[in-house]
Amino acid sequence: MAETETFAFQAEINQLLSLIINTFYSNKEIFLRELISNASDALDKIRFESLTDKSKLDSQPELFIRIVPDKVNKTLSIIDSGVGMTKSELVNNLGTIARSGTKEFMEALQAGVDVSMIGQFGVGFYSAYLVAEKVVVTTKHNDDEQYVWESQAGGSFTVSRDTNGEPLGRGTKVTLYLKDDQLEYLEEKRIKELVRKHSEFISYPIYLLVEKTTEKEVSDDEDDDTMKEEEGKVEDVDNERDEEERKKTKKIKQVTHEWEVINKQKPIWLRQPEEITKEEYAAFYKSLTNDWEDHLAVKHFSVEGQLEFKAILFVPRRAPFDLFDTRKKPNNIKLYVRRVFIMDNCEELIPEYLGFIKGVVDSDDLPLNISRETLQQNKILKVIRKNLVKKCIEMFFEIAENKEDYSKFYDAFSKNLKLGVHEDAQNRAKLADLLRYYSTKSGDEMTSLKDYVTRMKEGQQDIYYITGESKKAVENSPFLEKLKRKGYEVLFMVDAIDEYVVSQLREYDGKKLISATKEGLKLEESEEEKAAKEEKKKSFENLCKVMKDILGDKVEKVVVSDRIVDSPCVLVTGEYGWTANMERIMKAQALRDTSMSNYMSSKKTMEINPDNGIMEELRKRADRDSNDKSVKDLVLLLYETALLTSGFSLDDPNQFGGRIHRMLKLGLNIEDGTGENEDTGMSALEETNEESKMEEVD
Ligand code: ADP
Ligand code: MG
Repeated sequence: MAETETFAFQAEINQLLSLIINTFYSNKEIFLRELISNASDALDKIRFESLTDKSKLDSQPELFIRIVPDKVNKTLSIIDSGVGMTKSELVNNLGTIARSGTKEFMEALQAGVDVSMIGQFGVGFYSAYLVAEKVVVTTKHNDDEQYVWESQAGGSFTVSRDTNGEPLGRGTKVTLYLKDDQLEYLEEKRIKELVRKHSEFISYPIYLLVEKTTEKEVSDDEDDDTMKEEEGKVEDVDNERDEEERKKTKKIKQVTHEWEVINKQKPIWLRQPEEITKEEYAAFYKSLTNDWEDHLAVKHFSVEGQLEFKAILFVPRRAPFDLFDTRKKPNNIKLYVRRVFIMDNCEELIPEYLGFIKGVVDSDDLPLNISRETLQQNKILKVIRKNLVKKCIEMFFEIAENKEDYSKFYDAFSKNLKLGVHEDAQNRAKLADLLRYYSTKSGDEMTSLKDYVTRMKEGQQDIYYITGESKKAVENSPFLEKLKRKGYEVLFMVDAIDEYVVSQLREYDGKKLISATKEGLKLEESEEEKAAKEEKKKSFENLCKVMKDILGDKVEKVVVSDRIVDSPCVLVTGEYGWTANMERIMKAQALRDTSMSNYMSSKKTMEINPDNGIMEELRKRADRDSNDKSVKDLVLLLYETALLTSGFSLDDPNQFGGRIHRMLKLGLNIEDGTGENEDTGMSALEETNEESKMEEVD
């Protein structure tokens, strides 16, 4: 007797099993798809290995999947001649090694997603327990003996050498002991229906062991012999025979078992797109991705000429849960060479920003024995990649023809498009056309840059934008005042990645992209306006100097502003430095390089509004006495307030709070007990400032 070892399921897997067993899910049928998909993966692996070493197929030359319903024992078996598992793989893959998606899947389940999503989380095998009370996995890998895995869930599984079971040669047999209320999965019709629905495009033959009952006429005396004969060629017997003979024969029922292929295997990408229905594409997409929803868009094409390949590319409806998880290798485009599956995570086929695209590529030109190492330098692959990117972008434009679809697409994948603008110089202009933003004029719908341009006012040269944390945070920003008044539209770029987008994009359709919050915002003006402004500027020269003295290193300079109408002042950043928003983003990154941030975030310019009442009053006071204490207090308070309204954060919120509280007390006429400062009123603020300076020194 071979030794039986018992193993405990890894904790999360155990939890998942309980959830699968104890929760009611209506969509149990997907278990079959998951097991067939695993079989197909295992077959892909051995086929790939055999490309470089033919002898690996010797243990079992045929590649197949077989389904065996056994009504007597109430079991359903799925058998494949794939790569199989060694003992340690069996122990690791089916129970002891945590899978990254386990926890996410349980959370998703609890959040109400359908159990059919299981495959996407890399734990599809356990769906067997939706219908089975016990699962037995027998497996044979070329490098090991045949082993049996067995479990009724409940925390543990066993593994033992399979000494007396039927030898598999190579591959895996998964036997499900069905629960009593799940016996429908033994019915031929039901199995065929499921394979058609979920597994039709598996590229290996799926055989179902079917029962055939035939009626056969035999003459009385040859009864016994015929029973042993294989059925067939029965139909045209009667016509040939005469009455005489017929009287001597009788009809008997004959039951035989035979393998019936129940999937179409011709790869769908070899067929003509005109002949393929939407449903067929959807079925193929689902079998490829384990998605339970249809695709959002599909592009099926072939490239001919010096280089030939066929491809089908899909855009899913949703982003996967781990879209930007760098630990996970993208697993989205399957590479075939002349119908033979080569690999399914070929990174060279598609740039990272298109990592959400699913599909297949079948090349006529690549060598069959291509390895991962040689892929990197492969010229053919580079050309294929270029074509795929082009087709993807075409597909996005097709989606954009339907507003509702595009908004769904944009919700899910705008970050990818933006990453593309940042990284893909060659396609930058085209990708920019796919961007959408809210703006001061967009209302509830986002606008494209193209539409923005059509709305530009006469005399408007540039495209204006503002970056920030959210639409709400930017739409009433003081930076927009003048632009709004002039009727210039401003785009709201409120995605962190937008900062990177504009750093690369710089212009669109020959028009510069100008930040409303950076230096160098110049607006068109008439001669009179200009003259009047010069005058004003002159009169504020002294105040600017006084303010710079007070603020010291906090600001690079203080100047009279062009862009504000109502607010007293704003803080702008250098044309090539970070915006306030970028500073916020960088501060949020734990491992940022501080030397970089000092360099990039240092240059703030304070712009003051000469038409604002507060500034006018300050100007008067400063002109009268450049050492006026109240001026100093107010300037510091204005500076801190401007930090906030311009989107920066305060270095010392307490100090700011203290200043505001003093102001409140003044406004409410509450005495503070520090009598000597009360005469000027404002000097109460001065004191706060001094106090906190003392605290800082401490
Ligand atoms: P996934 O298929 O996403 O990896 P599963 O839970 O479906 O996750 O399967 C877990 C692992 O078990 C697979 O990655 C594979 O290593 C192994 N496995 C499952 N079924 C088979 C099979 N029929 N043949 C070989 N290995 C298998
Ligand atoms: Mg699987």
